[in-house]
Amino acid sequence: MDYLSKKIEDIEIRINRGVCISAATCVVYAPNTFNIDDKGLAIIKEKDWDRVEKIVAAAQSCPALAIEVYQGGKRMYPV
Ligand code: SF4
Repeated sequence: MDYLSKKIEDIEIRINRGVCISAATCVVYAPNTFNIDDKGLAIIKEKDWDRVEKIVAAAQSCPALAIEVYQGGKRMYPV
């Protein structure tokens, strides 16, 4: 299992890097939130994230369903 999670204020993002296929559409939808590391897998930036709508759009865009988004403890995606 290669899980990554980060929380800023009431938003929490989790990435299951074990299923990430390096498609990088998350970076296209939310470039201030996601990046690709030197292994080609998604990582979560430290600060100044995109608005939650963009983060959810990024999660929806992921072909591997690798991204989960929570707001205030409630799961926003997948629903
Ligand atoms: S969109 Fe999904 S599969 Fe593609 S890099 Fe991001 S987390 Fe990985």
